Order: sequence, then structure tokens, then C-alpha cells
Amino acid sequence: MGDGQTRIVDDPASKATGYGINAAVDTANRALGIGGVVRTAAQAASLRAAVASSPAEWWVVKAQAIWDDVLAAEDPSLKGVQIADLDWWAEYASKLSGKPAIAELGDVGYPAWTNSSSLTLVAPSLFGEPPDPADDTTPRLLLKHEAEHIKQFRREGDQPPRTYLDMARFERDAYGRLLVEVNRVIAAGATEYADLADAVGQLVTTFGLWAAHPPGRATEEFILAAMLLHEDNGQPSAMLPPSAGPTPDNMYVP
Ligand SMILES: [Zn+2]
Repeated sequence: MGDGQTRIVDDPASKATGYGINAAVDTANRALGIGGVVRTAAQAASLRAAVASSPAEWWVVKAQAIWDDVLAAEDPSLKGVQIADLDWWAEYASKLSGKPAIAELGDVGYPAWTNSSSLTLVAPSLFGEPPDPADDTTPRLLLKHEAEHIKQFRREGDQPPRTYLDMARFERDAYGRLLVEVNRVIAAGATEYADLADAVGQLVTTFGLWAAHPPGRATEEFILAAMLLHEDNGQPSAMLPPSAGPTPDNMYVP
């Protein structure tokens, strides 16, 4: 047994996992019984108001239209999800207490990032590199990946991943679903998506290997380090902001 300072807390009943660093949050999560975020009605209302008045960039407007008219039309459970600009979000949310790592989310190069079961953030690269506003297929595929996260978070009680192991599991499953969609597009004749299928296939493999580790502190440290130092085809391509903390909590806002 160690000295208790950084002992991980794994509670199978509540799914709460923590390093014992923030005892108040760990206790509150256990009280919620879902490993859930601590959220007040006022916090939620203030967040929705900020998102509603955020800049209506073209990639936000188009992504919201694809979400509402295509994804939510296919799956009504996806109705009501807000789309906002990732860079705006990084600026806004990083000023909230305990969320400095969010400032770097916009620098990691994500085409999209899902913050909660009701908010997905998007960047121009959702429409390819360089972005093509006329491209409907790439954003539809990438938003489908984010839609999987929305459904995962909702299944967990409106809860983003609280551990890196959960994050790896979510990504393995969401990229697995995306691979099915990309292969469907390729089979329909759009062979230019073969490179995307390769990249997504590698991610399914990588996250699958990480997700196979047992719960616990050693796994948390391993996955965090691996995501910070990830290499893609020999090129460094960190999957997380450089100042990502010991738990994913500081990258999500309740
Ligand atoms: Zn993802």
C-alpha cells in the first residue's frame, strides 16, 4: 500500500474513478450514483446561453444543418444537440474554474470535439484539408463519430469519460462505427475515402489495445502518456492537449 496521496479510487458500483485528488468531486459523483458530473441548473443555463450567442461561422452553420437534417433525421434521439465553434469554445471554456487545458483543445487539430451529451464543437477542418464548404460527405462521416459520443455520454447519465480507460473504450467503439460508415461510402464508389478508412482502422486498433488494459492507476498513466506522445505514420500527432491532467475531467464542462 502506498501513502494514500495518489491512490486511485475505483468504485464498480458507481463507476467513480479518481486519484483522490479532489475528494469533494469524488464524493459528489458517488452520491449521484453514476460517476456523474456535478452540475447545477444555473451552470447548465449559463452554458446554453453562451453557446446560443457564440459566433455563427459557416462551418458551424453547415455542421448544424447536417446534424439536424441528416443525422437527427435518421436517428431522432440526436435532436437538440448544439453545434458551436471549437476555437470559440477553447477561449470561452478555458476561463472557467479548473479548465485551463481546454485552451489548448483548438491547437490539437481536432476537426470536432464533443463536450457533453448536448454540445459538439467543430473546426473548419471538419470539411477537409483545405476545408471545402461544398463537401457534405466528410463532415457527415466525422459528425457521425461525434454522434456516437453523444449516445455514449447519454448512456452513462449525461457523462463524458471520467477516466482515460473509458475515453479509450468510447473512441474504440466510436471509430469502429465510423469505419463501418466509411467502408459503406467506399463501397458506393467514393474510393477517395480509402485513406480515411486506413487512418480510422489504425485508430480502432490503437484504442482497442489501450482499452484492453485493466482499470487502475497504471492504466490511466499509460493511456495519458500514450495519447500525449502518439505517433501517426511516424509523425508526432498528440491526441490530447499538452497540459491534460491526470483525469479527463478538466477537458469537459458540465
Ligand atoms: Zn472521438
